[in-house]
Amino acid sequence: MRVSKLLAGKGRDVATISKERSVRDALALLKERGIGALVVTGAKPPLVGIFSERDAVRALATSGESALEEKVADLMTKDVVVCTEATQLTELMTMMTERRIRHVPVVEDAKLVGLISIGDVVKARLEELENDKKDLLDYVSGR
Ligand code: AMP
Repeated sequence: MRVSKLLAGKGRDVATISKERSVRDALALLKERGIGALVVTGAKPPLVGIFSERDAVRALATSGESALEEKVADLMTKDVVVCTEATQLTELMTMMTERRIRHVPVVEDAKLVGLISIGDVVKARLEELENDKKDLLDYVSGR
């Protein structure tokens, strides 16, 4: 299965935040949207970084409450791993496992067109396995 099919199922909406905003604002947005990461925007499209709840936890553990006033730009990961709509589910699983990340933005022609989370990957893989099981059962029972 390719990323294009995953996006067709989940939609293309991506929550973003400007790199100039505070960690407090980022956390409010994560809570409001019920998500774990934000794509960070800045001068250079389509993105300048990614900020996940893990970055917030790290900052809070290091600096305490004052971390809330720090800028997203200072805590985000700048070297972002991205995929395209043609990327295969298995490639995504490898990227996420090897890099220990749970979110991968989808970039097509220098435009942000979606974001795949590890939850989306697990859901899609389960669906694939269920379909394979059904096909095998149909095959052995001659249906
Ligand atoms: P996550 O597991 O996605 O919550 O993120 C764990 C760490 O990896 C955090 O420091 C994130 O900023 C970083 N991270 C998350 N997604 C990516 C990505 N696609 N490329 C690079 N770093 C990422």
